Amino acid sequence: MLQNTNCKICQSPSEKIFSKTVLTKYETNYYQCSNCSFMQTDEPHWLSEAYEAAITSLDIGLLSRNIHLREEVSKIVDCCYPEAKSFLDYAGGYGAFTRLMRDAGYNFYNQDDYCENIFAKNFDIDDSAIKKFDIVTGFEVLEHFNHPLENIKTVFDYADTAIFSTELIPFSSPEEIKNWWYLTEETGQHIAFYTTKAMEYIAQLYNRNYYCRNGNIHVFTTKKLSEEQVDYAIKNIQKKRYFFGLIKKKVKFKINRVSLLESDYQNIKKKLNLL
Ligand SMILES: [Zn+2]
Repeated sequence: MLQNTNCKICQSPSEKIFSKTVLTKYETNYYQCSNCSFMQTDEPHWLSEAYEAAITSLDIGLLSRNIHLREEVSKIVDCCYPEAKSFLDYAGGYGAFTRLMRDAGYNFYNQDDYCENIFAKNFDIDDSAIKKFDIVTGFEVLEHFNHPLENIKTVFDYADTAIFSTELIPFSSPEEIKNWWYLTEETGQHIAFYTTKAMEYIAQLYNRNYYCRNGNIHVFTTKKLSEEQVDYAIKNIQKKRYFFGLIKKKVKFKINRVSLLESDYQNIKKKLNLL
């Protein structure tokens, strides 16, 4: 087994820092980059086995995560991209996020090559004539990428602004990283682990600005956000500035949107010839 390899992000040498058993049977090494600290596994020959059920039965947090992400994403969109009209949820799984966002008035579509769209039927990428969206989202996908630079480019091709969620490596010692819950080696699906430096490298490579919210929401965008937008939607510090008298008045960024639930219902009925 290789003890050294090159980083999939910045191509610098990566060193083996520990090994673990994935899918309860395959011994694999984990390598960390000497430059950007991105971490990757051995070549994941087990992936097809790991995806036999695309969303594993261990993922019981799926619904509450989507509800939380709806709040996070609408805050960023309303504040930083009020003009955005079309949205795509990349690798959106069952379509729960797309439906939730449509209910809240955002024109979202769902994309997933591996999983059946259950909740957002009729709002699949194939149902849309749009080729380039204003914003693409990708939740819990970066850590699944076997060829991160190529795979991220595929997402970036859908829109100039991409909003991802993934956890950044929170520790520096190999021993602590080895026990990090996010490795979830029992499912075999997490094979790429990022750091701020790795994210900044990706942003620079693809000419994007990079903004990180709460350590786990990552915005890559060709747009330069204003200081107010960063304060409100990225750093959550507008409240503090107001409290300390650093700004005179709080700015409200919330847009009143009309839910698409009723019009979607009518359109689907028409499509099914029920009207
Ligand atoms: Zn690197």
